[in-house]
Amino acid sequence: QKTEWAKLVNEKTVSADDHHVELAANIGTPNDLKGVIENGGDGVGLYRTEFLYMGRDQLPTEEEQFDAYKAVLEGMNGKPVVVRTLDIGGDKELPYLQLPKELNPFLGFRAIRLCLEEQDIFRTQLRALLRASRYGNLKIMFPMIATLDEFREAKAILEDEKQKLIDSGQKISDSIELGIMVEIPSTAILADQFAKEVDFFSIGTNDLIQYTMAADRMNQRVSYLYQPYSPSILRLVKMVIDAAHAEGKWAGMCGEMAGDETAIPLLLGLGLDEFSMSATSILKARSQIKKLSKVEMEKLAKQVLNMQTTAQVIEAVNAATK
Ligand code: PEP
Ligand code: MG
Repeated sequence: QKTEWAKLVNEKTVSADDHHVELAANIGTPNDLKGVIENGGDGVGLYRTEFLYMGRDQLPTEEEQFDAYKAVLEGMNGKPVVVRTLDIGGDKELPYLQLPKELNPFLGFRAIRLCLEEQDIFRTQLRALLRASRYGNLKIMFPMIATLDEFREAKAILEDEKQKLIDSGQKISDSIELGIMVEIPSTAILADQFAKEVDFFSIGTNDLIQYTMAADRMNQRVSYLYQPYSPSILRLVKMVIDAAHAEGKWAGMCGEMAGDETAIPLLLGLGLDEFSMSATSILKARSQIKKLSKVEMEKLAKQVLNMQTTAQVIEAVNAATK
């Protein structure tokens, strides 16, 4: 199997009936790039920048960030790189920010909420990203967006920093796409409105599942509720993909579900454009997709959206793909 997969490193990802999708990688640091290239990633679908901020005792400077972003963009050699702005909070703490303890950190002051309030931190990161943009194919993505107001405010700050850099004579790419993570149910439900204003969606199922099921993704006792194949989750995923396509935008997924063997046939059928996963899953996924018929998976997806339970969905996928 491994040797069969290895042959796919430089191949495009196409289904048996010739439908093309992108397989990208999730990374945490520039050191992860080697794995992305060795495993034939079509790009970086999620660069979790919070690791730049963790395991140290002060914020990273603009220059430190610039170096990291430039390294990733250059390393990917013109292939798309989706950089997610700081997603701190929840399970990821930054002790040096000395934020007050919260009763429900996953529902609290985190990610874009923190960035819109602590604008110095946000603006520093955006400047580093904008300055690095000329070294590759940068796409910027905001995490934990719950309302259009948040997106508009974050976008306005980005535009403001961009204009200031241009005014000071800096060279900034003029083709940076701007997208959001869809990981809060309100945003999935309102995806048709968001799709008019964003360039792309990336569905963050790790959080979307926990917020939809009201089941902490870290809590073993409620892990039985953490159901990626639940018809409820699949309906949300469908809404997001359809909303993107209705506006001529693309939809990706960067939660664990995107690399999951049982989910992939469904996601292909639902029309997902980009699957972002750990680099080590890419070749296996490419091999799997090559054997699937998009048209057949569309039929399967349509069927499961009307099912009642996760068990029924799993059974239907197994029957359709064995
Ligand atoms: C997600 O929520 O699906 C996601 C990709 O983000 P993270 O796992 O970093 O919260
Ligand atoms: Mg998340």
